[in-house]
Amino acid sequence: MGRCFNFSAGPANLPLEVLQQAQVDLVDYQGTGMSVMEMSHRGKDYMSIHQNAEKNLRTLMDIPENYKVLFLQGGATTQFAAIPLNLFSSKQSADYVNTGAWSKKAIAEARRYGTVQVIASSEDRNFNYIPTLTSEMYSADADYIHITSNNTIYGTCYPMLPDVGNSTLVCDMSSDILSKPYDVSKFGVIYAGAQKNIGPSGLTIVIVRNDLIGKALDITPTMLNFQTHADSGSMFNTPPCFTIYMAGLVLEWMLSNGGVQAMDVRNKQKAALLYNFLDQSVLFSATVEGDARSIMNVTFITGDEDLDKLFISQAEASNLRSLKGHRSVGGMRASIYNAFTKEGVETLVEFMKDFEKSNG
Ligand SMILES: *Cc1c(COP(=O)(O)O)cnc(C)c1O
Repeated sequence: MGRCFNFSAGPANLPLEVLQQAQVDLVDYQGTGMSVMEMSHRGKDYMSIHQNAEKNLRTLMDIPENYKVLFLQGGATTQFAAIPLNLFSSKQSADYVNTGAWSKKAIAEARRYGTVQVIASSEDRNFNYIPTLTSEMYSADADYIHITSNNTIYGTCYPMLPDVGNSTLVCDMSSDILSKPYDVSKFGVIYAGAQKNIGPSGLTIVIVRNDLIGKALDITPTMLNFQTHADSGSMFNTPPCFTIYMAGLVLEWMLSNGGVQAMDVRNKQKAALLYNFLDQSVLFSATVEGDARSIMNVTFITGDEDLDKLFISQAEASNLRSLKGHRSVGGMRASIYNAFTKEGVETLVEFMKDFEKSNG
């Protein structure tokens, strides 16, 4: 079997056990005589897949009763519009923190529907840190405060959630949902595209507090209105059935591997292996300092673009794939989500040591 070590930022690698289970189920799902891809979304077999996926997500994240879980399409990018459309009140105003490319896109989209104050930004240093937020920064009339918990491209994440008091905190959690414990009750809305830590692309998860549903602006398209999907159990139209089935398998895999707590321990160990090596290396260095370092996306450079290129191509040839950094940062990025093995990180560190010896 020719599996590589896949450091892709997303769609990202999935647990091998999950792929193997999907293979077993592929042409005949548990004696139904059909694939999950071929069955009615209203039938009992699919309904049970759908409900189990939600139940397991609720268990894993300890989601309170007064929150709805929505299984949607359109990616996190569609939520950049859905969030303001659903949450803007008569003032149509919100606070955003600009910590990278995804935040910027969220800001630009929200500006189409109202007033956005960028209350803090890390753009002055190419987004290699997380700005400190204090209560006097928040606008009095903001309907919500939007953050991006983990910045996939720049390799930063919030060391601590900002304390927004009674204001509504909205979070794009696409690249670190389920990687460590988050207290859902601190948020008004959490949203995430599935393809980083939950499953294949095609599914977007929205976790929204009940009192924030039902207040959408009149211009909100039916499909972007949280109410539509909350009222129909995410079955208003055909859901992305096969992706939800795959996400369900990943959630079961997480549960049988110790849940979010255990993922957190393992993720910290994996990230520490890499950062510890980077911090003592004479050739490589991390692009992010201190407690803003992401445990999901580790960004690093040699300081010489040609050497970065050589490293990436030699790594590819050694089965360490998709290590090229995003074009806006350059260098390298190792995305090491929940499903990425410790063995894979150890193999990368050994490879970097060898590369350093020959090129340092
Ligand atoms: C990948 C990513 C997105 C974009 O997600 P899509 O599902 O492709 O729309 C948005 N925000 C963050 C933080 C991401 O990592």
